[in-house]
Amino acid sequence: MGAPDLSVLTSTTVAHHINGRRVVSTSGRSQPVFNPATGAAAREVALASAAEVEAAVAAAKAAFPAWAETPPLRRARVLNKFLELLNQHRDTLAALITAEHGKVFTDAQGEVTRGIEIVEFACGAPQLLKTDFTDQVGTGIDNWALRQPLGVVAGITPFNFPVMVPMWMFPVALACGNCFVLKPSERDPSASLFIADLLKQAGLPDGVFNVVQGDKLAVDTLLTHPDVKAISFVGSTPIAQYIYETGAKHGKRVQALGGAKNHMVVMPDADLEQAVDALIGAAYGSAGERCMAISVAVLVGDVADKIVPKLAERARALKVKNGMELDAEMGPIVTRQALERIEGYIATGVEEGATLVADGRGLKVPGHEKGFFTGGTLFDHVTPQMRIYKEEIFGPVLGCVRVPDFASAVELVNAHEFANGVACFTRDGHVAREFSRRIEVGMVGINVPIPVPMAWHGFGGWKRSLFGDMHAYGEEGVRFYTRQKSVMQRWPESTPKGAEFVMPTSK
Ligand code: NAD
Repeated sequence: MGAPDLSVLTSTTVAHHINGRRVVSTSGRSQPVFNPATGAAAREVALASAAEVEAAVAAAKAAFPAWAETPPLRRARVLNKFLELLNQHRDTLAALITAEHGKVFTDAQGEVTRGIEIVEFACGAPQLLKTDFTDQVGTGIDNWALRQPLGVVAGITPFNFPVMVPMWMFPVALACGNCFVLKPSERDPSASLFIADLLKQAGLPDGVFNVVQGDKLAVDTLLTHPDVKAISFVGSTPIAQYIYETGAKHGKRVQALGGAKNHMVVMPDADLEQAVDALIGAAYGSAGERCMAISVAVLVGDVADKIVPKLAERARALKVKNGMELDAEMGPIVTRQALERIEGYIATGVEEGATLVADGRGLKVPGHEKGFFTGGTLFDHVTPQMRIYKEEIFGPVLGCVRVPDFASAVELVNAHEFANGVACFTRDGHVAREFSRRIEVGMVGINVPIPVPMAWHGFGGWKRSLFGDMHAYGEEGVRFYTRQKSVMQRWPESTPKGAEFVMPTSK
């Protein structure tokens, strides 16, 4: 076995990976990929034509019969080899994430680890695909279930986790016997090719995993292609809704995870130092570009007066640097456009009358003057009517809402249209229990600010944070990527003579 193809790191164009090979696009369309820390365009990413997407789907379709027939244990062995390679190349993948996304290297390492955990889960394919069997449902008759793969399935992923989010999808899809077409974010596409190389090296047959780089054209081609049986999407809410509606209209199974506005409720009895640490990490980690970032602090009773000054001091003191510097706490924003959107929201918050306690705008990082940096921003006295409360900013901006008591905190959270993650900091077991049961949000943390479920639990929000019925990965992921078939069987020796004209019942 040779070393993986590292040319992805130095190549000036980001190509497709179709049927086990790099395919240079001939679409004539491309766009720059930036290093957000320097602001320099590092390479161009191809934007696929419909024909290129169709070629990827055709390769996946051709590979499907053999892969679907491969025993789950042997599929799992390929994933096990992939897991070994991922562990070997963990830091290369992390560096690749930092170079195109901007997040700090240690955070990128954490992202890779959380992705690896899904591969570990998918390595249990034989156990995951095991089904129910009932002996003797009637005399001489047995009934059991099969879980069969769907065929070609596609994943469309966002910029903020270029390794972890694709790994929420394809390891489970492949373990279940499907073939996969990944359409990564065009803003940080290179990791997808590195992953494709590792899969190939692990022994995955050509065509089972394909990558097409692209934009709306590629997505629409996948959404309407008759050979694509299911779509997994993660991204912003308007696009998630569009994906869900269009995919469903074309007869596909769809899970479309959308945007977020995650609240963290701090009760007066909480350990306030822990709450401050949690808010700083969860609001400003990865520059707030996480779907599980905390963007609203709900401060109950007299908590605000006690912690807002501390939050402001910590927000102003954040070490904002090139993510490759090991003491960096926050890196740049992914693109200049996103930076402008975030700083535009800060101006809106001021106009709306929120109190700007820490202003991160216009931050210049020495030696990186052209990088897409902004500092940590903190607002106090945010109200539910403000746009900075209602809308997803997706940047390092934390808004504090003051509420008198627990009941109003729950009411506030439950009235928001997004319902991805939420946290409650308290020492009171009854409050914690009530919170977990009454809150209308998909993922809840009690004294845990970012409660991203483990690989075997499944990830998904409620309301406008998820369109579809099934969460990503975990057992729901296995259900999403398989069709259940019920088989009922008997043999001539136990078959009575004569036609039956009544509804069959247990005899
Ligand atoms: P995005 O919606 O802009 O893009 C996601 C994907 O959709 C990309 O692959 C992109 O190429 C494609 N896309 C964009 N516009 C499209 C269009 N008009 N038609 C078809 N396809 C289109 O999201 P993003 O900016 O890359 O990622 C950030 C968003 O993702 C945030 O809203 C964040 O909350 C969300 N997110 C959600 C989760 C979750 O689990 N719920 C996880 C990560 C990110």
